[in-house]
Amino acid sequence: MLLLPHHARMCSLLPISKRSIPKAPSSHRLFLFSSCSTRVFSRSQPLLPLVNVVAPKRASSSVNHSKARAFRIVPHFVPQIQSRHYIVNNKSSKMAPQLDGYFKQVDEMAGSFIKRLADAVAIPSVSADPGLRPKVVEMGKFLEKELKALGATVELRELGKQPDHPEVDLPPVILGRYGNDPNKRTILVYGHYDVQPASKEDGWNTDPFALSVDEESGRMYGRGSTDDKGPVLGWINAIEAHQKAGIEFPVNLLMCFEGMEEYGSEGLDDLIKAEADKWFKDADAVCISDNYWLGTEKPCLTYGLRGCSYYKITVSGPGADLHSGVFGGTVTEPMTDLVSLLGTLVDNKGKIKIEGIDDLVAPLTEEEKALFPNIAFTMDDIYESLGSKTTIFNNKEQILMARWRYPSLSIHGIEGAFSGTGAKTVIPACVSGKFSIRTVPNMELEEVDKLVFAHIDREWERLGSNNTLKRELMHAGKWWVASPKHWNFSAASKAVQQVFGTEPDFTREGGSIPVTLTFEQATKKNVLLLPMGSSTDGAHSINEKLDKRNYIEGTKLLGAYLHYVAVEPQV
Ligand SMILES: [Zn+2]
Repeated sequence: MLLLPHHARMCSLLPISKRSIPKAPSSHRLFLFSSCSTRVFSRSQPLLPLVNVVAPKRASSSVNHSKARAFRIVPHFVPQIQSRHYIVNNKSSKMAPQLDGYFKQVDEMAGSFIKRLADAVAIPSVSADPGLRPKVVEMGKFLEKELKALGATVELRELGKQPDHPEVDLPPVILGRYGNDPNKRTILVYGHYDVQPASKEDGWNTDPFALSVDEESGRMYGRGSTDDKGPVLGWINAIEAHQKAGIEFPVNLLMCFEGMEEYGSEGLDDLIKAEADKWFKDADAVCISDNYWLGTEKPCLTYGLRGCSYYKITVSGPGADLHSGVFGGTVTEPMTDLVSLLGTLVDNKGKIKIEGIDDLVAPLTEEEKALFPNIAFTMDDIYESLGSKTTIFNNKEQILMARWRYPSLSIHGIEGAFSGTGAKTVIPACVSGKFSIRTVPNMELEEVDKLVFAHIDREWERLGSNNTLKRELMHAGKWWVASPKHWNFSAASKAVQQVFGTEPDFTREGGSIPVTLTFEQATKKNVLLLPMGSSTDGAHSINEKLDKRNYIEGTKLLGAYLHYVAVEPQV
């Protein structure tokens, strides 16, 4: 269930089941702790910008960089934000972007943007089902049409046949380009247009492929609404709103939208590498919108992901399964050996007992430590998502650090063991234990393997068993961490402040999004994860939804980010 395949998918943050998971709203999501679903907006509140930032009339190129500039925030309607001064440490030598016209346009077009999402959700682009491959292709062509209508250059890149279903072609990767001005920065954005399987029988309250908008709650239910059609369309909406408002698009936008993300991103790595110095050549930074806020109220920018190294240890002895009444006490039982070995890996306080592992972990700096206390997250959030209070730590900082910046070792299961109900007296002849380590900076994966294997060999030796041991690495994906100080992040942070009136949380995630690292390594540029959806969206689950607020304000955020990124200084 938690196994990441070789080309682990983007949503490997979520369970890897190729089926949707009925009756598991959000609790199965490894990386998100759902928090209360209090909404900021009531039905009567229109989707308007949270605040107007009244910037100084004119920016001076001789601005004193050491001085923070004050912006007055004028609340439109959010009662808890009173008129006040908001300090933005604006190091830009250029004027802060004026976005009122863009925001107003997005509000005016909200209806048509929701219609666009409904049209996209209506195409069941389920990548796991080869029978629905034409629908995945149709969805790709839908994007092509929308982009071309806005004047973007689009190419469909074929990826050949699907390795495990050679009778079908992989869906094309949609490569887009909007704008070609050498004086502007170029931002590469990634998203995916395929979705997880879904059917009414799984327990959906509505048809998963018909966007159902609950006007009261603002929730828009439909497969792919949040993962990842909403965010992909957000970029298209942003282009359209600029055109309609007559506002110059601030950057050149490169787009890479794939159709196999929910099925292991087949073929994508090679394409990214091949296009690094072609289609993606001009990219100054990368932005991926395909993860989620930590809660429901506060946007976040994600700058790190843990990696995953997955191991299997197999103990075998007898030629076949045995009866314990006949052979119990006479044979060295593989299961006893295996359980002993597994018992040496980690204790119940989460401490990894493999010698040397802790030494590979980057020490916690004061600067990093300071990021944690302000993060909008409570112990109740984790209790709610766990469905229990059985946490190892009792404060949020330790919990978040344990999830994001320290390694963990989990024992997942035993293959070949008796696991049914009843009281079967079998002695299994061959059993395999599966465990994985979530890796973090600066753990070199080969070094981790060496330590793991040395530990197992040592413990095996200690057991003095006459059974046979085999240990192997099943797959490994590396961790990723970006500098949250990079202009790509500071621009996004300012955009969040302008759209939502609050500073974003800087978060990492406990899971993996392998394409992030691929983009970083191929383009050698900073990668930012800029989520649109919230923790309660239920991607991969039944009743997946995207809140109207997240979609419309999210469209503003993507556009605002591009404006800020256009003027953010290099440092
Ligand atoms: Zn996704």
